[in-house]
Amino acid sequence: MKFQEITVCLDMHGCPNRCKHCWLSATPNGNMPFSEIESTAEQFRPFTDCLQIYDWYREPDFTEKYREHFEICSRLSDSPLDHFEVASFWRLARDGGYGKWLASLGLKKIQLTLFGDARTTDFYIGRKGAYQELLKAMDILMENKISPRIQVFVSRNNIDQLGHIENLIKELNLENRCRAYGGEFTFFLHQGSCDGENEKWYDAWVTPEDLGKIPPLLEAYTLRHFGAKNIADVFGRTEQSLYEELITDASTASYVSDTPVFYIDKDFNVYPNISTPAPHWLLGNLKQDGVRTVLENYVENKSAAQHTRMTVPLCELAKAQGDGTSRRLFGRGDYIELLLNRYCRQRNLY
Ligand code: SF4
Repeated sequence: MKFQEITVCLDMHGCPNRCKHCWLSATPNGNMPFSEIESTAEQFRPFTDCLQIYDWYREPDFTEKYREHFEICSRLSDSPLDHFEVASFWRLARDGGYGKWLASLGLKKIQLTLFGDARTTDFYIGRKGAYQELLKAMDILMENKISPRIQVFVSRNNIDQLGHIENLIKELNLENRCRAYGGEFTFFLHQGSCDGENEKWYDAWVTPEDLGKIPPLLEAYTLRHFGAKNIADVFGRTEQSLYEELITDASTASYVSDTPVFYIDKDFNVYPNISTPAPHWLLGNLKQDGVRTVLENYVENKSAAQHTRMTVPLCELAKAQGDGTSRRLFGRGDYIELLLNRYCRQRNLY
């Protein structure tokens, strides 16, 4: 059993936030010992010539030892480790050297998530003071010539807050401040995938009728970010239209890839990076079952969710879990995963 590339992400320390849109779910934070990075890498290494290992899949750089962790992950990875354009705004607001360190890695953009005004953003991030920390993080990033890329998750509950975000972008003069050092301010909004914590907002999910509430400036930024022609393309199709398509589709599918990404939680449970790391996606436990069993379970579609997708036709998933009258907007893949997650949960498939 050999893969072209394997990426392994360990949830070593969790996350300081409890975002209400988090597709990774609000699980307790762990405290994995440093040595687990090396031992995990060595377990996966025989199964690929290109291993990538990360010490996080929720909040990057949440550990005090983020520099050492990045160095060891880089050393243990077979190709240069990408930090990605994400960072810990919790750390940016507390750690004087963090912004400089991010700049030293060559990062030019970092994504930050807002939901509206201070009260709304604190509510959705699940922590009082988060909004003020995000504003501070933006200043620190720009001092280090890193441009903020603001992301907004939109539901019917916060779509009326978009005016506040538009005003904030103007008041903080973000476009000109980024341009002054040769950077580019960017922004996008979307509904996110309907899994993990975000699935709880299904009842407040956006419909085509809501899209008219998006301010033109934020719409223009979003179209530029996604390279889309109109905002409907960003939000996808109505559930009704997807349902009508899927209800006649008898296909099944495998999620197995030659370049898989695995998420390992604080208790060493391993999940494929397909949807939320929930029990029906579990591949096994690295300590108890061992890496070979975990990888065999992946390749043989043995997690309950993979097995269901391989054996239950889309029309059955749609019939059992879809709503043929709903105008909620989804991407096709996200909608299939919503149906699949619901189907497995309802039948207690683990
Ligand atoms: S969305 Fe990101 S920052 Fe928010 S709780 Fe999830 S992992 Fe943490």
